[in-house]
Amino acid sequence: MLNFFFPRQCPSCMEIIETDTLFCSPCFDMLSFIPTYERCPKCFTYKGENKCFYCIQHRELFIKKAALFEEGSPAIALLKDPEKYAKTMGALFILALDQFSWIRPDVIYSQSPLKKVSHSMGKMYALPKFSKYNNYAGKNVLCITNTFKDFNIPLSLYSSNIFLVAFSL
Ligand SMILES: [Zn+2]
Ligand SMILES: [Zn+2]
Repeated sequence: MLNFFFPRQCPSCMEIIETDTLFCSPCFDMLSFIPTYERCPKCFTYKGENKCFYCIQHRELFIKKAALFEEGSPAIALLKDPEKYAKTMGALFILALDQFSWIRPDVIYSQSPLKKVSHSMGKMYALPKFSKYNNYAGKNVLCITNTFKDFNIPLSLYSSNIFLVAFSL
């Protein structure tokens, strides 16, 4: 039973783990969020010290965009089974969001296979239940996705303030 909650293998490198942690310690040490200071706060493009020329020229649909991990991060292993790792992924999203200091969302929106992750985040934020029949208009909607390219903006969100966070770049 304990093995269900505490897998004995690191999901990233498959090393056997003796402790009650999710990742082995070398992988855990490599778990760091993407630094945001060199990225555009609106579209998350890498910009170094320059202004983001994309955002000067285009009107983004998103209020803000960010990603948590680089493609090479051990955390990417969790994307193999978002249902199984829903609580961990939800906690990592919330931890990162805390560092972005964005506004508190009214609603968390996700598409399959992250439904369970957004559900778990909704609980952690203690957000009221929101059904698809409610109106998103004017709401601050936090959208979570595996990667930016996995996310399709539904029409129902067009009149809301969309914040998009991807688990991986
Ligand atoms: Zn490992
Ligand atoms: Zn930009």
